[in-house]
Amino acid sequence: MPGGHAQTLRPFMWRAERLYPDTEIVSRTHEGRTRHTYAEYADRTARLANALDDYGIERGDRVATFCWNHTRHFETYFGVPNTGAQLHTINPLLPDEHIQYIVDDADDEIIFVDPSLAEKIAGAAEGAAEFDGVDFVAMGSEGIDALDAPAYEEFIADHSTEYDWPDLDGDQPAGLCYTSGTTGKPKGVEYTQSMLWSHTMASQTPQGIPMEDSDVVMPVVPMFHVNAWGMPFTAAAAGAKHVYPGPSPDPADLGALIEEEGVTISAGVPTVWLGLREHVEAGNDVDLSTLDTVIIGGAAAPQALIEWYDERGVEVLHAWGMTELSPIGTVSHLKSDLREADYETQVNKRSKQGLVAPGLEFEVIDEDGEEIPWDGEAFGELRIRGPWVTKEYFKRPEANEEEFVDGWLKTGDVVTVDEDGYMQLVDRTKDVIKSGGEWISSVELENAIMAYDGVSEAAVVGVPHERWQERPVAFIVVAEGVDRDELVERIETGLRDEYPKWWVPDAVEFIDEVPKTATGKFSKKDLREQYGDQSLVDGAVPEDDAPEQE
Ligand code: ADP
Repeated sequence: MPGGHAQTLRPFMWRAERLYPDTEIVSRTHEGRTRHTYAEYADRTARLANALDDYGIERGDRVATFCWNHTRHFETYFGVPNTGAQLHTINPLLPDEHIQYIVDDADDEIIFVDPSLAEKIAGAAEGAAEFDGVDFVAMGSEGIDALDAPAYEEFIADHSTEYDWPDLDGDQPAGLCYTSGTTGKPKGVEYTQSMLWSHTMASQTPQGIPMEDSDVVMPVVPMFHVNAWGMPFTAAAAGAKHVYPGPSPDPADLGALIEEEGVTISAGVPTVWLGLREHVEAGNDVDLSTLDTVIIGGAAAPQALIEWYDERGVEVLHAWGMTELSPIGTVSHLKSDLREADYETQVNKRSKQGLVAPGLEFEVIDEDGEEIPWDGEAFGELRIRGPWVTKEYFKRPEANEEEFVDGWLKTGDVVTVDEDGYMQLVDRTKDVIKSGGEWISSVELENAIMAYDGVSEAAVVGVPHERWQERPVAFIVVAEGVDRDELVERIETGLRDEYPKWWVPDAVEFIDEVPKTATGKFSKKDLREQYGDQSLVDGAVPEDDAPEQE
C-alpha cells in the first residue's frame, strides 16, 4: 500500500523533526563529544540520501555499516532505508571469514567504516574477491588512505538538505542483519519497512519498552546488533534525546555519559551491566539518579543483578529477543495484579524473560509434539510468529526448511511458561546439559551461582562424561581478594540445598574471563572448546562419587 499509507519508517523521522527540532542527539566519538539537534539531523540525513543517489545507489541496493554507536551511524538508520535502499549493519567483531561471507552474500555496494575499525575491515578485505567492487566511506572528518575512503563529512558536504523521500511499500526491504552463526554460516535476516514500523509501534506500547519525549535514551547494545534492539527508531518515534556511547565504551565512559547527559533509559547485554556494577563496587562514584530503566536482554539477566540495580532505584526490564524478531519478543513487566505482591515474588517474575509483546503469538511444543501446559514446570521449544518476525532467511532455502514450521519460527530456545504467562528460558537447545537422560538448565545454575558474593561471572557447560553422558562444570570469574576455597565450599553447599544432588556441578573452575561472542554473550562454544575435555571431569569426580541419578 504505497502513497504514504504504508507502514514505513519515514513518518517517525518526519515527526521528530517537526515536533522536536531542538531535541538533541549526542555522541561520544573519536573526535570528542558531538551534539546535533533533530533539525540538524534531518538536514544531514537528507544530504546523506542525496550523496547516496549521486553515488548511484538505487532502490533495493544494499548499503553497509561497520561502525560503533554514534550519530553518523544513526544518520544511516533513516537515511538509507528512507531512500528505498537497504541498510546492512555488519558486526565488526565477527571473524574475517564471516565478514567476507556476509559482504558477498549481501552484495554490499558501499561500506561506511569507523576509523577504529579500518584495520579490521582492511584485513578482511585484503585479497578477498568478496570485496571486489565495494567502496568505503570513513565515518569522520578525515578519510582513510588504506581503504581509499573519503571522509563521511566530505561525502555528504556538497549536497542539498532537501530530499524528495519516495513513497515506499511496506514490503520494501529496509534492513539486514546476520545472526552470529554459532553453528555453520551466518544467516541473513531481512527487515522490511513494515516489520520495523510494527516493531517500533509495539515497543512504544506500555508493555513494550516505551519512551517519552522527556526521555534520554542511550543504547549500549551495538547498532550492529539487531538495530540496537530498535531503540534508535523507538527514541525517534517518541522524540526523545539520544545518547550514543561511541567506540568500545568502558564502564567509566558509560558512567560519565549517564551522569553528564542525564540518561533515563539504557539497554545492553548482561555483561555491560555487570561491568558497571563492578566499576561502582570497586569504589568509583557513578550518579545513577537520572536512570529510570535499564533493559537487559540478549542473555539471561541474573536475579542478583536485577536486585543490585533495584537497590539503586534503577528498574531492570528483562527482555528476550532474537535477530529473527527485529528483535523484541518478550518483556518482563509486572502484571498489575502482581504489584501488591511481596518483593521476592515480584523479582522472581521480573527475572523471567517475560510476557509476550502485544502483537505476537507463541506456542511451546514438547518432545512429543504436544503443546505444554502453562504451569511453570513443563518445557518445550518455543515457536513464535507475528508482524515483525521474519518468515524466511535471506537466500537460505535449506535453513528455511529447518527453522520454520507451519508459519512459526522455531526459536531453538527451551522454555517454560507459568500460570501468569511469564515465559522463562530454560536453555538453548544446544546448551542444555544432558545428564543421565535428564536435562539440567545451564542458565538456571549460572544465575544461582552469580548470586554468590564475590562471583562476577559464571558460565556452566556440559562436558562429556562416560557414565552420565554429560556433567555440568562451572567456570567462574571472581573479584580480587576472594577466598577461593571458601567460595567454592559456599557455592557447593548452597547448590546442594537448592537443587537435586545431580544438578550440582562436578567442578568449579576459576578463569580470568568468560569468553564472549561477537555480540557480547558468554560463548559456551569457546568454553567447551577450551576446557571441555573429559579429563577435567574424570579428575574432578571419582567414579564412585558420581551422583546417583536413577
Ligand atoms: P545469536 O544467536 O547471534 O546470539 P541473537 O542475538 O539473535 O543471535 O540471539 C538470540 C538468542 O539469544 C535467543 O534465541 C536466546 O537464546 C538468547 N537470548 C536473548 N535474550 C535472552 C534473555 N533475556 N535471556 C536468555 N537468553 C536470551
